[in-house]
Amino acid sequence: MKAALLKGLNKFEIETIEKPIPKEHEVLVKVKAVGICGSDIHKMQNEWKYELPMVMGHEFSGVVESIGSNVKRSLIGDRVVVAPLIPCHECVYCESGKYQLCEDYTMIGSHRYGGFEEYVTVPEENVINIGESISFEEAAMIEPLAVAAHGVMGLDSKIGDIVAVFGLGTIGILTVQWLRLTGVKKIIGIDIDSNKINEAKKYGVTDTVNPLEESIEKKIFELTDNLGVDIAIECAGSKITEEQCLLITKKGGKIGYQGIAYSDILLRQRAFENIFRREYTINGFWNSYSAPFPGKEWIHSAKFIEQGKINLKDLISHRFQLTEIQQAFDLTVNREESYNKVMIFPEESKGDEK
Ligand SMILES: [Zn+2]
Ligand SMILES: [Zn+2]
Repeated sequence: MKAALLKGLNKFEIETIEKPIPKEHEVLVKVKAVGICGSDIHKMQNEWKYELPMVMGHEFSGVVESIGSNVKRSLIGDRVVVAPLIPCHECVYCESGKYQLCEDYTMIGSHRYGGFEEYVTVPEENVINIGESISFEEAAMIEPLAVAAHGVMGLDSKIGDIVAVFGLGTIGILTVQWLRLTGVKKIIGIDIDSNKINEAKKYGVTDTVNPLEESIEKKIFELTDNLGVDIAIECAGSKITEEQCLLITKKGGKIGYQGIAYSDILLRQRAFENIFRREYTINGFWNSYSAPFPGKEWIHSAKFIEQGKINLKDLISHRFQLTEIQQAFDLTVNREESYNKVMIFPEESKGDEK
């Protein structure tokens, strides 16, 4: 079978390797669609800390082709999405159902082979059935959708709230879509890319701020009767926006951090003081899991897509075949053109089909 082996930093080679055989609690999935994650791009721009060669890809869907001897469910032929975290089930966090905080996890696509190949073996508990009406490329976006759900669920937004979303990339837009479903009154989308701001309006952003063009504090206080937002969600991962959250949130408001900053964050006194003077509740959100594994984030994501309540299709900006993976990564790693979700197809198709 064909596999895209990572051989060095942003160096992929398509090779023919042995088709894997599922172990007793594993299933063999024929991969149908696999997305490139922002974290994959960041790793290729900076450092790969895991073994080489590796098959990356942790956002994927496919069809179960065969199952191991001890697999309980009759999964053969089923359409599935794969949750990429394999928790240890033994540490203190796993025991309390906080799998996202596991001390000794394995990640599919970093520690073991992921979706940038024709067939991949994964544990039975990591596959989730998807409905017939979900396309494989939509299903491959359940992982980022579950990440967005984890944050929105954790912040518990209420009908009538005003929420600011920093960063209108994939996670930001998916966050906006969840927020809209919770009944918030205003969703203020913040980004420095005017294309992203314009795009975001069709997903439910009611007001926008481009901090390069106007004062973010002034604009947000104007939009909120001089109070600030009830909730700020940081999905941009920039050291500037991580601080801005602390400046534009209302007294007693909530702030959720989801974006990885990849640099030191230095807070000015005024921003830091707001944490206690304004009595903020600050939450960090990591990954997309809860108990029972893999969690409601995954189950609800699959269900809401099936019901047509989440628009994923329009977020896919580029489609490549597996043999074109180097071109796909070059485009994102070198920012050769503007992109959103880049999808890879191991078969000779370019997605869209069910
Ligand atoms: Zn991801
Ligand atoms: Zn654990």
